[in-house]
Amino acid sequence: MTDIILILLFIIFFIIYYLIIPYQVKRRRTFFKKSSFCPHWHHFLEKNIYLYRILPNNLKLELQDYIKVFLAEKEFIGQDGFIITIYTKLAIASQACILLLGDKENRRNYFPYLKYIYVYPQMIIENKNKKENPIILLGLSSVGDKSGYDGVVYLSWAEIAEKSPYPSKGENVILHEFAHQLDQEFGNATGMPRLKNLQESLMWGEIFGKEYYNHCQAVKNQQPTVIDAYGAISSAEFFAVVTEAFFLNSRLLQANHPLLYDQVSKFYGVDPIQWIINYEL
Ligand SMILES: [Zn+2]
Repeated sequence: MTDIILILLFIIFFIIYYLIIPYQVKRRRTFFKKSSFCPHWHHFLEKNIYLYRILPNNLKLELQDYIKVFLAEKEFIGQDGFIITIYTKLAIASQACILLLGDKENRRNYFPYLKYIYVYPQMIIENKNKKENPIILLGLSSVGDKSGYDGVVYLSWAEIAEKSPYPSKGENVILHEFAHQLDQEFGNATGMPRLKNLQESLMWGEIFGKEYYNHCQAVKNQQPTVIDAYGAISSAEFFAVVTEAFFLNSRLLQANHPLLYDQVSKFYGVDPIQWIINYEL
């Protein structure tokens, strides 16, 4: 008798977790996507967000759908007196969702372990009230887990406002922290986000490993690099700064690191060089 009850409970759990919840999530997202995207949101993004501006029109419409769902699912919280407005949300959502654009199978699933986005007016100061030396940051990312801890991305608004309107020498704290979110999906960031299969993982390890090693050598020897020198800190940071270079310094990255560019392009499912060619026509 007890065995039958256990089996029944397992079946009920399976149906709720794997069938009913995903169905409800899909229905809710379809509803949000059908809502309108205000024309002045579009104008704000055209004027202030470089990556939105250079997108072909069909991808702009796709990005707008991603933004609508992102705004509905994530909670934005101002820190140190910062007031969140719809424009704060749009600036962050639009650039975070650039990383989802080419994900046709929805494997990245709107950063599922992220719940909160904390926005600071200036820098983020860690250990402010502790004895250790304070650490000053532009951004930080942590993912949630099944024990109930909610994932958080911390961002400096001053940095976003300064760097978002232009390619800004390949620097973008939103791309950086949300690349960490993709990388942290299974816990600690390693520089290898979720890939389709073992073959892709092996290929990623080989190309990324070589590129990371060469980058560390170049930084050590104080040679100029297309990829931010900060990437030499760890393979996780390397993935985050390569993501920034891929979207913002696309031509230079492709010219100097063609294998890396192709690999990252395959992962994100987009080719930003084509966006720029189309934008410059
Ligand atoms: Zn980082």
